[in-house]
Amino acid sequence: MTGTGATPATLDRVRRHLVGLKMPRALEVLDHIVRQLERGELSALDAIDALLAEELTIREGRRIKAALQMARLTSIKTLDSFDFSFQPSLDRNRILALAQLDFINRHEVLHLLGPPGTGKSHLALALGVEAVKAGRSVYFTTLADLVASLAKAEREGSLRERIRFLCRPQLLIIDEIGYLPVIAGGGNLVFQLVNARYERGAMVLTSNRGFSEWGDVFGDPVVATALLDRLLHHAIVVQIEGASYRLRQHADLMPDTTRVRPITAPQPPRRRGRPPKLRSMDQDAG
Ligand code: ADP
Ligand code: MG
Repeated sequence: MTGTGATPATLDRVRRHLVGLKMPRALEVLDHIVRQLERGELSALDAIDALLAEELTIREGRRIKAALQMARLTSIKTLDSFDFSFQPSLDRNRILALAQLDFINRHEVLHLLGPPGTGKSHLALALGVEAVKAGRSVYFTTLADLVASLAKAEREGSLRERIRFLCRPQLLIIDEIGYLPVIAGGGNLVFQLVNARYERGAMVLTSNRGFSEWGDVFGDPVVATALLDRLLHHAIVVQIEGASYRLRQHADLMPDTTRVRPITAPQPPRRRGRPPKLRSMDQDAG
């Protein structure tokens, strides 16, 4: 121990300080950093910096891991792993600007719309991950799970608490609006939540259905109109019009009509006279 003035007694004291301060990672790397210091590879200030940086990195990693679990962001997607060249209708800079998270400060609602497989959930999750990293509170759910949890709370007489819980996160992500029909009374429950969060917290919503179809999705046009009134007031709408990333390897095998699926299914042509006899799938198969 020459040159640095690090006597064994001093080193021992430093160790005890690190234990007292609950800095296990710094304790782990202390000897290595002291050796670098003695070899003249680090200045004293660099050594302090390295010690603190090690501890902070570990703590940040632990905080992010716990926050991702709290947010129910179980499947981790990132903006880095999103191939923007595959989805030319999507403005990369617009998404990167959203990742700056100002829309969360402004309590805005981001709608990600598009056919299945176009990356809506991926982008919603990735924005959730960015928000968690930036220290924001996030909660991710599908619409079906959200409605089920609200309905359960209502049955158990704890709807107010459930809504209060869902108002806490600064960003609420509701995925998969439109894939499954909402159960009777579900639209009303979602409205109560949306109304409680209105102008108080940001949301990201993903849907494969246009707004004009929300009456069908929520099984009630009056509730759908009231919902959209709130959800479109301070809103950012990102429409993705492209092919499914899931089917990209099979593009050659897919008929043209399934490569880019329209958001609304085309209506069959109307016929005059007696309606044709409906054939069920079973009859087709038999
Ligand atoms: P959607 O929610 O629109 O139906 P997803 O976001 O679930 O689609 O995307 C389907 C799968 O394809 C996911 O595994 C997702 O990570 C991946 N994916 C979709 N679009 C892209 C893309 N442009 N670049 C990389 N992966 C993508
Ligand atoms: Mg999805």
